[in-house]
Amino acid sequence: MKHSGKMLAAGAALTLFIAPSRAWQKHSPGVSTAKVAHDYPIRPVPFTAVHLTDTFWAPRIETNRKVTIPFAFEKCEETGRVANFVHAAEALRGHIPDQDRKIPPYPFDDTDIYKVIEGASYTLSVKPDPHLESYIDGLIQKIGAAQEKDGYLYTARTIDPAHPHAWAGAHRWEDEEVLSHELYDLGHLYEAAVAYYQATGKRSLLDIALKSANLLCNTFGPGRKTIWPGHQIVEMGLVKLYRVTGDERYLNLAKFMLDSRGPGGSSYNQADLKVIDQTEAVGHAVRATYMYSGMADVAAMTGDTAYVHAIDTIWENVVAKKLYITGGIGATGAGEAFGANYELPNLTAYNETCASVGNDFWNQRLFLLHGDAKYIDVMERTLYNGLISGVSLDGRSFFYQNPLESNGRKGRSPWFGVACCPGNITRFMASVPGYMYALAGPTVYVNLFAGGNAEIPMGGRTLKIVQETRYPWDGKVKITVDPGKPGAFTIKVRIPGWARGEAVPSDLYRFADVLHEPARLRVNGREVPVRVTEGYATLSREWKSGDVIDLDLPMPVRRIVANSQVAADRGRVALERGPIVYAAEGVDSPTHRVRNLLLPEDARLTAEFRPDLLNGVVVLEGKAISLAYNAHGKVTRTSEKFTAIPYYAWANRGRDEMIVWIPDSESVAKPAPWPTLATESKVTASQGGGRVTGEGMEKHPEAVNDGDEPSSSNDPASYFDWWPEKGKTEWIEYDFPKTATVSQIQVYWYDDTGRGEVRVPASWRVLYKDGGTWRPVAGAGPWGVDKDKYNTVAFAPVTTGALRLEVTMQPNWSAGVQKWKVK
Ligand SMILES: [Zn+2]
Repeated sequence: MKHSGKMLAAGAALTLFIAPSRAWQKHSPGVSTAKVAHDYPIRPVPFTAVHLTDTFWAPRIETNRKVTIPFAFEKCEETGRVANFVHAAEALRGHIPDQDRKIPPYPFDDTDIYKVIEGASYTLSVKPDPHLESYIDGLIQKIGAAQEKDGYLYTARTIDPAHPHAWAGAHRWEDEEVLSHELYDLGHLYEAAVAYYQATGKRSLLDIALKSANLLCNTFGPGRKTIWPGHQIVEMGLVKLYRVTGDERYLNLAKFMLDSRGPGGSSYNQADLKVIDQTEAVGHAVRATYMYSGMADVAAMTGDTAYVHAIDTIWENVVAKKLYITGGIGATGAGEAFGANYELPNLTAYNETCASVGNDFWNQRLFLLHGDAKYIDVMERTLYNGLISGVSLDGRSFFYQNPLESNGRKGRSPWFGVACCPGNITRFMASVPGYMYALAGPTVYVNLFAGGNAEIPMGGRTLKIVQETRYPWDGKVKITVDPGKPGAFTIKVRIPGWARGEAVPSDLYRFADVLHEPARLRVNGREVPVRVTEGYATLSREWKSGDVIDLDLPMPVRRIVANSQVAADRGRVALERGPIVYAAEGVDSPTHRVRNLLLPEDARLTAEFRPDLLNGVVVLEGKAISLAYNAHGKVTRTSEKFTAIPYYAWANRGRDEMIVWIPDSESVAKPAPWPTLATESKVTASQGGGRVTGEGMEKHPEAVNDGDEPSSSNDPASYFDWWPEKGKTEWIEYDFPKTATVSQIQVYWYDDTGRGEVRVPASWRVLYKDGGTWRPVAGAGPWGVDKDKYNTVAFAPVTTGALRLEVTMQPNWSAGVQKWKVK
């Protein structure tokens, strides 16, 4: 291992003051952590030392423990993810494959079990549960039995090596950089193994992980074969193995894999450039944030400054140009990827839950490197908004995507074919208390606010901290300090950006109003001037038992506007109070519509805590203007009661419209459409009604008559297609509310050239229902298939109760409809 010889930061020297983490492992006697030569200059206080008793996080963490984790294990059993290990073990013992022994649907299905084991281990660290522990022991036996003799572990191949998963490649590792996900699976295995070892002191899963990691070390590295992961995370996993074992081979291999990426590969998985030459966040957002987190880890452990420079530069790009106000990242569904600079659409925002988790991993690590609270500002924004939106309040259903607007057709799912997000929720929620405090020598950082207490080993003492607060609903925070014996040290209290008039640490978003009440700070009742450096008020003094810090962060309702380069947010405002971003949801509107609202600049909004609503939330209330077209095509305005709820809590009361960026300018407002024969019709289609992809994207035939207007045939906002069907004849049908005479239709075709496999059809026709028979309309034509416009077809009038479009696709292509109007 070569060290650059340069310190990461002046604070690096302070690591000497940090007690070994062994002292923090009070629930896991016998577990040691190896001494490592370099580490982050700032160390997080682990979640095992922080006990939350508040009404916001503590119940969520308990729901995660009691509901989500058992539920996710159940789903892993039910969907065959556990059986994959059993079948791989049978194959290793030479059993002839039977019909049960199917190749898993995805080669990364193993990770779901690893992730939930990791989450469950974190809960075991703070709350022993013999039943859960023995269940995990059983899973670990199955995992171990599926491991090949030399350490190789990948059920998608081992189940049937002669016919492995289509993405696995004919031989081990040969398709890793593209599709196989062998290293992705192992990264999650390593993280789970370390978590279980630290929680229980049991080496069972750790030994499996080390056997696998040793195979990697013996196969890859300088003088051996080259490899880098197609889907990153193994870098973080290897660093964790290095932390517990002190074996530098794991750290070296992580760095080797990072340095083997690019140039000349795909930007989809960040292999287009050497990692140290990357300056912009591109490609698959989860892979990206996992890689940046792995780079931070390797940089911290080696002193490499080139990695730090690269991830600092990429962070500037994300925070200034690619971050949603909810803290979500990864704007586009195509490639689950970052969009272009300022490309932040709302209705189609992808914002994978895993990308929010990755964003918080990354921002936490940047804070640990630099000690600047701007990273915690981003982390907190993601945490309270676009991350916990990924799980329902009851802990049993999830979002894969977290858009900022809904047409009322999006709902949560109990699971996904690609089930990365639920597992990530289980492990993240269980470790939330670990993001609250950090330590660098004689300095304690108070980063997040939540009621509870912490015991922080500091030099020769244990510093006890008690927080009392109703955060995030109230900005008053009382921090009581007990250092044991009196002593001089520093407490850095974060003054959040939002409390300093800074919406985000960039010019991407800003508050539209002026902040009148500044943050206030008192120590033992005496006002202290709030001087903020790198986001902190620094309190250096002789502390004694019973000292009290009172922090007051006023929480008025704030309006946020986006940088004018964000086209999707022009003429619109978002509402925020404290760290919470708000959304209007249809269920709170008398018309069940919110996308047609206009929120005038002078509309007064009040905040009220509603203990009965959505497990207790502060709602914002006021008056807005509801816009609608009348029969003559004129816009009507109706004043109506306006309610906004925390964004994270939407879609817990059924499917409804939702909007975060609300027009305050009539030029972008969207009046509700006047009901027409088409919009009032019931829509059905061949290939069923709402269909859901593995990633939880939903397609509903109701998109074709929702009254929205597409901007082009390629507009991904609201359409219906028959993909993955190709070259077939399919239909979509309107059942009119009552019999009508019609003589013209207009069809706007969907065509996703450049992104997908849907093209305008080869041919089509219109049928009408005559009694029980479908008959073609007469005298019709021409049957237009032009893109980016309505194709109008007139025909001899028919009086009927239903109309059908029959669409014949081009060979090898699918087809779809944006909108369909009827006259
Ligand atoms: Zn995911």
